Amino acid sequence: MIEINNKTDCCGCSACEQICPKRAIQMKQDKEGFYYPCVDRQTCVDCHLCEKVCPVKHPAVQTELTREVYICQNRETEIRKDSTSGGAFSAIAKYVLDKGGVVFGAAFDNNFCVVHSAVETYDDLKMLRGSKYVQSNPGNAFSMVKKLLNEGRLVCYSGTPCQIEGLNAFLQRSYDNLILVDLVCYSISSPLVWKQYLRLLEKEKKIILQQVGKVKFRDKNPYGYEYTRMTFYDMSGNVCYSSGPESNEMLRSFVSNTSTRPSCYKCKFKKTKRVSDFTIWDCYNIYQYDKKMDDNLGSSHVMVHTQKGKEILNQIASDYLKVKKANLEFAINSEPAMTQCASPGEHRREFFAMLAKNNSGEALKQFFPVSIKVKTERFLRENLSKINLYRFVKRAAITIFKK
Ligand SMILES: Cc1cc2nc3c(=O)[nH]c(=O)nc-3n(C[C@H](O)[C@H](O)[C@H](O)COP(=O)(O)OP(=O)(O)OC[C@H]3O[C@@H](n4cnc5c(N)ncnc54)[C@H](O)[C@@H]3O)c2cc1C
Ligand code: SF4
Ligand code: SF4
Ligand code: SF4
Repeated sequence: MIEINNKTDCCGCSACEQICPKRAIQMKQDKEGFYYPCVDRQTCVDCHLCEKVCPVKHPAVQTELTREVYICQNRETEIRKDSTSGGAFSAIAKYVLDKGGVVFGAAFDNNFCVVHSAVETYDDLKMLRGSKYVQSNPGNAFSMVKKLLNEGRLVCYSGTPCQIEGLNAFLQRSYDNLILVDLVCYSISSPLVWKQYLRLLEKEKKIILQQVGKVKFRDKNPYGYEYTRMTFYDMSGNVCYSSGPESNEMLRSFVSNTSTRPSCYKCKFKKTKRVSDFTIWDCYNIYQYDKKMDDNLGSSHVMVHTQKGKEILNQIASDYLKVKKANLEFAINSEPAMTQCASPGEHRREFFAMLAKNNSGEALKQFFPVSIKVKTERFLRENLSKINLYRFVKRAAITIFKK
């Protein structure tokens, strides 16, 4: 029977809950808002299946891999603009939908909670597009995947590396008709922090959530890929609220490792050899690969781990995705989050203590105030971006900082 003695030992993938033959496990939110398995001891028959499929207890070790890295840009400019990096995910998903398959990924539900959802049309694919830096609730997605695979449907499942290893363990065998896509994952934020952030917006910015049509965590509008912002759009596509990572309380709680799930500080899935077919991540340093592709609309790194992945990439390269081969080691080394864990933010404990006491988002306001420093940074970013200088200043700063 699964028992969580240390919160760092559970990534919340839900493989244990989904595999339990007695339905003795329920995923429940703790005080910080993260989901953990709770076992009903009366119902449990001690079959140990839950322990067997736990990816934290038994992380996968991959050996036979055909690893290659490419830099990619979706050939449809509008899709690329709408995606977080270069729209590589949408190109892979389109390949699956063309073949009548089903694509799983993270989407917002009607209350703006992040949940794993299945789509079967190009129009619905929009819901999965874009990073949501909040832990997605998988619900019963793993069981749905198994059913679809056994019916012979082509399935693509995308998510964080821990979710992908969880699914892989849950399935307990490989399937030719399954395509796994994971991401380089810095960490994930608490759904409770997100909920309180939404309350804060309602209170402070007078945003009416019922009138919000779309939320983007990394919106390229209006300043491009190198200065993305969190934006709320109304049903007609007008901006209701937008703020950059220097001032947005939710994004600041994420990048400062404050709203983070404990397992992310000791993540066992930050590795270069994965169970997925594809690993996708940002390519901010596109100018180091190809200056002509450096257009501030976004580029993705795509690591292909398997022969299946390689064949799919070859097929989508002509119609959907512009690809250019990259040096494997260089690409890996350009993103520390591929292999390195973040450390807990300085005020994490106090932040969550306040979050538990006050449910109106006061903790976000108090721990991430709009100080003079924040205002100055925002002023510089916005104004340098307007004259297309921000990205060059940012690159110069990175070069100096690295030295
Ligand atoms: C939590 C998180 C942390 C990340 N950290 C980094 C990082 O440190 N460095 C880096 O280079 N890239 C990181 N990425 C990846 C990056 O943000 C882009 O998602 C990636 O480059 C793919 O972009 P795209 O343009 O191809 O597709 P997009 O359409 O932008 O990406 C959509 C994909 O992301 C998945 N997704 C979105 N939100 C979630 C979620 N909450 N949980 C699970 N899956 C989700 C969708 O299922 C879909 O597969 C992270 C992504 C997430 C979700
Ligand atoms: S040991 Fe078996 S019955 Fe008990 S919780 Fe785990 S999977 Fe369910
Ligand atoms: S990591 Fe996944 S399988 Fe393991 S205990 Fe947590 S939810 Fe269950
Ligand atoms: S950092 Fe690791 S544990 Fe945290 S969400 Fe990402 S893959 Fe999962």
